[in-house]
Amino acid sequence: MPRYEYRCVGCGVVFDDILPMKNRNDPCSEVCKKCGGEIKIGIGSIRIGDPVRLGLMKPTGAFRDVMKMVNKTNKHNMLNM
Ligand SMILES: [Zn+2]
Repeated sequence: MPRYEYRCVGCGVVFDDILPMKNRNDPCSEVCKKCGGEIKIGIGSIRIGDPVRLGLMKPTGAFRDVMKMVNKTNKHNMLNM
């Protein structure tokens, strides 16, 4: 099974999990255990969110696509976008 990386938008904590592909967004429907922040899925083991979070880089097209996909697959959460 593939390994997915997740990141908290609130405190920036990164963790990973090995899940079947169809369950890869499951951790995104939960909140950060540390701060209660929103969890976003990363791409494999690439910590693409870090430079973006620090304001050093603009999000890449691929990163935005992931965010779009995450938002689309999380209609059931409180974002309601
Ligand atoms: Zn957090």
